[in-house]
Amino acid sequence: MAIIPTLMNEALSHYAESMFSSETPELAQLLKEAEQAGIPPISIGGVQGAFLQMLVQLTKAQTIVEVGSLAGYSAITMALAMKEGGTIHCYEKDSQYCSFIERQAKKFNVQDRIIVHEGDAANLLEQEIPAKIDIVFIDADKPSYVHYAELLIPSLTSGGLLIGDNALAWGYIADVEPEFEPENVKGIQAFNEYVKRHEFLLHPCIVPLGDGMCMAVKQ
Ligand code: SAM
Repeated sequence: MAIIPTLMNEALSHYAESMFSSETPELAQLLKEAEQAGIPPISIGGVQGAFLQMLVQLTKAQTIVEVGSLAGYSAITMALAMKEGGTIHCYEKDSQYCSFIERQAKKFNVQDRIIVHEGDAANLLEQEIPAKIDIVFIDADKPSYVHYAELLIPSLTSGGLLIGDNALAWGYIADVEPEFEPENVKGIQAFNEYVKRHEFLLHPCIVPLGDGMCMAVKQ
């Protein structure tokens, strides 16, 4: 018989954040500066950050692609766990956010690991895709998740990871006819289905940290 899962609640969430967060005082300061710059507070959380850092170490990632970078919080979190010589390609459409990321990358002394690609991610990736990607982290416009995955999977290395954030769609993922942000919820539903059914993606799973991450390993 299956074990009844422990559902996350506020107390458990606080416990996890207080015990296992990747957030340093410097990363907390980045978020403060982002808020002062008018950048919305929609970055990943510290517990997700700790998990991503573990994946970066496990895969010995040398090349990471992040689609949707906002203030650079998740990218810098991953960069801090990366070995020297690695690169994170950040695709971000907002030019103010792009400049903010570049400034922060210098502050964290990871400017050699972070390349910011400014513009619409689909347009940019349709023109050129980095080779031999070890981790793809998709966290931009939800209706385009499947398109980003289709563009990027061919360049994922064998054993590389595809990860999509917001896999639980703010709690609405199980809605058959979603009323909350239907286009976004349906975009994530389509992505989760795509990951589950893809011929060359192994061990698809959903990790219920933050708003959930759907992930799989490239064959
Ligand atoms: N990954 C970031 C973090 O955790 O620190 C948060 C990313 S935020 C949820 C989504 C970002 O995707 C926003 O900064 C938004 O401007 C960007 N975005 C949305 N649509 C995009 C597109 N078509 N091309 C590039 N960036 C896009």
